[in-house]
Amino acid sequence: MLPHPARPPLRPALVSVLLLGALGAACDDGPPDELAQRALESGVEPTPEVEPEGPEYFKVVAPGALPAINCAEKQDTGYVKGDPFAITVVTVDGKPVEVDTANAYYAMQQAAAADGVGIAIVSGFRTMAKQQELYNCYINCNCNNCNLAAKPGYSNHQSGHALDLNTGVSSVKKWLENHADEWGFARTVPKEDWHYEWWGGGPPQDGPCGIPLFAGDPEGQSFPSQEAPPILLEVGETRSGWLELENVGKASWGPTTMLATSPDEPSPLADASWPAPTRAARVESPTASGEVGRFNLVIRGNEPGSFVQHFSLVNEGEDQISWFAEDTLALNVLVVEPAPPEESTSSTSTGTGDGTGETAGETAGETAGETAGETAGETAGENTTSDGSTSADTTESADASTAGATGEGLDDGDEAGCGCVVDRGPRPWSELSLLAMLVLIGGRRRRLG
Ligand SMILES: [Zn+2]
Repeated sequence: MLPHPARPPLRPALVSVLLLGALGAACDDGPPDELAQRALESGVEPTPEVEPEGPEYFKVVAPGALPAINCAEKQDTGYVKGDPFAITVVTVDGKPVEVDTANAYYAMQQAAAADGVGIAIVSGFRTMAKQQELYNCYINCNCNNCNLAAKPGYSNHQSGHALDLNTGVSSVKKWLENHADEWGFARTVPKEDWHYEWWGGGPPQDGPCGIPLFAGDPEGQSFPSQEAPPILLEVGETRSGWLELENVGKASWGPTTMLATSPDEPSPLADASWPAPTRAARVESPTASGEVGRFNLVIRGNEPGSFVQHFSLVNEGEDQISWFAEDTLALNVLVVEPAPPEESTSSTSTGTGDGTGETAGETAGETAGETAGETAGETAGENTTSDGSTSADTTESADASTAGATGEGLDDGDEAGCGCVVDRGPRPWSELSLLAMLVLIGGRRRRLG
């Protein structure tokens, strides 16, 4: 973090004493508008910098190239008006740059690239040692072409706000003159067309480094995990729950912050309460950075089937759409057809009731649907009929043994069938046995009712 006109430094100064007075008269320093205005009036450069030398100022960069950013953070000491503070520095275009300035530059550089212009950083953050070296060159006129340099502790390169850019390339110079202000960058030294400063402003700074604009850490949820047995829903049935995340980004969450399907496609579990088939819920209430936001979610079984639905968070701002907390929630849901009316049950349970396997088997077979039913019926019949007269048909399906094993459980009484016809498609074993269990549950539930 770096000091900002509207925001004091977040971290206390590391060093309390600095003796810089002997090095020369203090240069004025401050926000760019004020600086530029004062400089124009006085004709004096408020923060003289090193004059660009060498090929970097004329370095042509491929317009499509993204800035080379290494977000590995390094702590250093920055200075504003001679006062030290802790500064976080990352590496951009091979140069150390304060992290917030780096993110702002990243956005601007991308915009320029879209216009076919390749900006690169020539000089970014400077340590006290570097500025001292440059200043000595200036004072003693024995190095760096005797170029003017700000007094150590007083260069905005030490504040983290300043970047020297490759304005030796005319297209870069022109683009910056026309667009830099849109990205919060301003020239502050009249004679230095390469020297730009960023003191905030421009679009939301959502660069790749440091604390992101939008980020969320899971705090809790009411739904079972994806690894747990699936959530069972009948078609038309809904299930309510919630998800909580801590806002660990810089921006606040509001009505534009939503739980969204991932990938961004309409969900088979969408409920009428959703803002859209791809937007499951808005954050319950405004959530500032550091607070916990809650998303109340209702899912609905709309069609039979087995679904795994992933959710991420998205903020749909006016300027940009930010996806974050990727796949923060995954729901494993099994949707089945609802149980039929009571009549169908009684019709199927009018078997002989003599307690033979034939009855149990046939009933289960008739009612539970072809796949689960037949196999359950056959096997149940086989298992319980000693004379083998009924279960003549085959067991050509490997599924039979599985379903049968489960179907056996049905056979604790006279009425096994439930009339549920669940998805008839081929199923893996585990799912098939699950279906058979559903048959069982359905049968018992109805009996109780
Ligand atoms: Zn500069």
